[in-house]
Amino acid sequence: MTASERALTYFPAPRSQRYCSQCGNLLARRIPDDDNRERDLCDHCGAIHYQNPRMVLGTIPVWEKQVLLCRRAIEPRHGYWTLPAGFMELGETTSQGAARETQEEAGARIEMGPLFAVLDIPHVDQVHIFYLARLTDPEFEPGPESLEARLFDEDEIPWDDLAFRSVSTALKLFFSDRARGVFQIHSDTLLRGPEPVPAVSPPFLADPMLGLLTTLTIAAHEIPQELGDFIVLVNAGFTRRKALLFNVLSSMMAIVGGLVGYYLLAGSRQWVPYVLTLAASSFIYIAVADLMPQMQRRTTVRESLPQFVLIVAGVLAIFAVNSVFHRHAHGLAARQAAPAVTAADPGAAPPPSAP
Ligand SMILES: [Zn+2]
Ligand SMILES: [Zn+2]
Repeated sequence: MTASERALTYFPAPRSQRYCSQCGNLLARRIPDDDNRERDLCDHCGAIHYQNPRMVLGTIPVWEKQVLLCRRAIEPRHGYWTLPAGFMELGETTSQGAARETQEEAGARIEMGPLFAVLDIPHVDQVHIFYLARLTDPEFEPGPESLEARLFDEDEIPWDDLAFRSVSTALKLFFSDRARGVFQIHSDTLLRGPEPVPAVSPPFLADPMLGLLTTLTIAAHEIPQELGDFIVLVNAGFTRRKALLFNVLSSMMAIVGGLVGYYLLAGSRQWVPYVLTLAASSFIYIAVADLMPQMQRRTTVRESLPQFVLIVAGVLAIFAVNSVFHRHAHGLAARQAAPAVTAADPGAAPPPSAP
């Protein structure tokens, strides 16, 4: 999996869509008559595209005193342990969906038990529902979405390597109920946990692909620039070691700024468009006030022609990269149809995604 695929997989499903899935025309976002919140409306065919939370269904499969867990073979949270669970399919009941996921991910034969936990995860627009289940035999075969499946005693549960907070919550409730000898139906709400930190923050918050492109563009600009700074420092009498140190120190400020920006903006996403506008206008300012006057000094055709060719090549490169990545993103969305449980983990949790 490439970095760009990873970035996409880790991100939540969009809360709005651009084009009408009925007629293909551009959608408008506004409050319909007799409604109280914004929807994606098609002014061409009249369709209203409602977005509603997704249901994730799973089981806590038990064999004697042990619980069955699967190690994920898919992103997000590849390699981490989970209870068998996945997105509800059309036309099935919650109990059927939970049984199906257990069959698909663990290859286990089970007897379904009663409803056990309903976990609301509003910041990713998901509801996770777990049923109790009993394995009818200790034979199971992990499906393609699992690296392995095995039974755990309570004191063997890999708490630090669980894929999702909903899984650890369901397991804790299960073991505490079992210790008391009474299984109840639980409902709980999991609030937003910490998220990982991509390199260039506001574009990443807007769209991982925009973030990746911005990072590549900045790298292409910064690496020659930093080399230039290094040479300036050496010419000014710095030793190479000292010049490198100062160069690294000043560059590190970009990481500090990125982290601060990401965490400040993650809590208040309504500011992202304004910060993006500010960032974009800063780039335009640098181009107009700094780079273009430098170009004006080269007045002969011999000097300015290569420059013009390079600028055109740069514009074409952006165009090419953009169209390649765009198609790439759609291919990934199609492959991602595989079910995945998603809710931020208490530790270094990725922002969850939905296929
Ligand atoms: Zn339409
Ligand atoms: Zn698209």
